[in-house]
Amino acid sequence: MRAGRPTLWRNDTMHDLVLRGGTVYDGLGGPGAAADVAVTGDRVVAVGADLGPARREIDVTGLAVAPGFIDAHSHSDPVPLLPEPQPFKLFQGVTTEIVGNCGFSFAPLDAATIEATGPLFAELAGGVPVVPRDFAGYLADIAAAGPTNHIAALVGHNTLRAYANGMDERLRPGALEQMCRLADDAFAAGAVGLSSGLIYPPGSYGDTDELIALARVAHRWNRPYTTHMRNEDDRLGEALDEAIAIATQARVRLQVSHCKVAGQANHGNAKLLLAKLHEARLAGVDVRGDQYPYRAGGTFLNALLPGAAQVGGTQAMRARLADPAARAELRALAEDLTQPHGFWARVTPADVLVTTHTTRPEVTGRTLAELAGAGDAFDTLCEVLVADPGAGMVVTLMAEEDVETIMVDPLIGIGSDNGPPVGLQHPRTWGCFPRVLGEYVRERGLLTLPEAVRKMTSAIADQFGLTGRGHIGAGAVADLVVFDPATIGHDGTYAVPDVRPTGVEHVVLAGHVVVDVGRFTGERRGHVLRG
Ligand SMILES: [Zn+2]
Repeated sequence: MRAGRPTLWRNDTMHDLVLRGGTVYDGLGGPGAAADVAVTGDRVVAVGADLGPARREIDVTGLAVAPGFIDAHSHSDPVPLLPEPQPFKLFQGVTTEIVGNCGFSFAPLDAATIEATGPLFAELAGGVPVVPRDFAGYLADIAAAGPTNHIAALVGHNTLRAYANGMDERLRPGALEQMCRLADDAFAAGAVGLSSGLIYPPGSYGDTDELIALARVAHRWNRPYTTHMRNEDDRLGEALDEAIAIATQARVRLQVSHCKVAGQANHGNAKLLLAKLHEARLAGVDVRGDQYPYRAGGTFLNALLPGAAQVGGTQAMRARLADPAARAELRALAEDLTQPHGFWARVTPADVLVTTHTTRPEVTGRTLAELAGAGDAFDTLCEVLVADPGAGMVVTLMAEEDVETIMVDPLIGIGSDNGPPVGLQHPRTWGCFPRVLGEYVRERGLLTLPEAVRKMTSAIADQFGLTGRGHIGAGAVADLVVFDPATIGHDGTYAVPDVRPTGVEHVVLAGHVVVDVGRFTGERRGHVLRG
């Protein structure tokens, strides 16, 4: 141990666990160093040589030892409530997930809000019943269920707005004040930040001032603001300006979610995105971003439609899509490239794969082009949505060159943007982190291993205020992953995504070995991390 560090152990102390013989990546970007790691209770107590005896030793010779990965951008909100423990993130080396992203938190919700937004939450819920509860109740419920990995939750703007204002476009008198009170309650309960998803109704109906007001509540609690921005294609620059303006006015840390450049006409603009982030940092905004390592995104199928489709809620959307005149109006809006919302005009039907559908499972795994056949693809889209307004899709939007440009920037961390590990989902759900380490580090040499580990650990912990996590050192929480840099990877595809990654050997969660020589112990050892 270096001089000046607190001494947390003595030579005659029996540690609970020592990982012996590995190469330690500290999570701060430091080079790999040959060292043992000693754990007692839920803490790392020493890193170095000759650390003394332990109740259990694991020989990790030839393997990398890193802080457990922190998924900056997860939609696993309901996953702890599934009947069986879900090790799909542990198998990727992820020990902590930040949930509640893109404006969709699973609380606060009341019966009326669930009624108005039901199909949207059903798509995210993976079969878990969506029930009324406040934020404290949600955190208590997932803690009682026992998450398989640690969970930290954001409170979402869409949820707050739906609660206070239904699916109306304009704010009712007092609605913003109610949203701010609900956000304050959520932060008091332990929400680690505020999220927005400004392509999704009703969040997309909110203006910049509304978001500044909510972000000011986050500021009072020293919590960050994360945003799925209002636009990620033709108006990317404007959308970044808005996000930065909100962070500047409210004086909050800013996390730009799943950084990407969507739409063929915009490919090559990754440098513009990064230049804006760096410029904002120079102006004093603590901004970073996250990214998943794929050319395709995944979201609600209804995100192809303009925001006007969903005014009044999903039943109103269904009625519009089923009515020929209203459908024609929506088609005109959807085909108008000057409209900021809905990316129908920026994709081709062959690039849209339907992944989830509650009432017509036979449409899943097929593209809109396949489903339409010789017919009209927009009509097919409308019919699929009438049958399930919350259906999900995977859609190819990005250029690989932009994916790489964004990935190498030091401000960008990793976030999977996963759905629940149920049914057909984007392969990022099962493979995001191993894919970065296998494909982008080992195969392409785009990132060094220490830098990739930093992007998955301290870069995320710092932005979300997860103190004591994201690095390996005496006193750090003992969330650890042991993997083989020579074999780590993920072979999942869009057609067969739910493949277990290779190369993750051990995962330690708050001192407990929960993946042991590649085998999940079945325990639910995760904690709820409160801000
Ligand atoms: Zn999003």
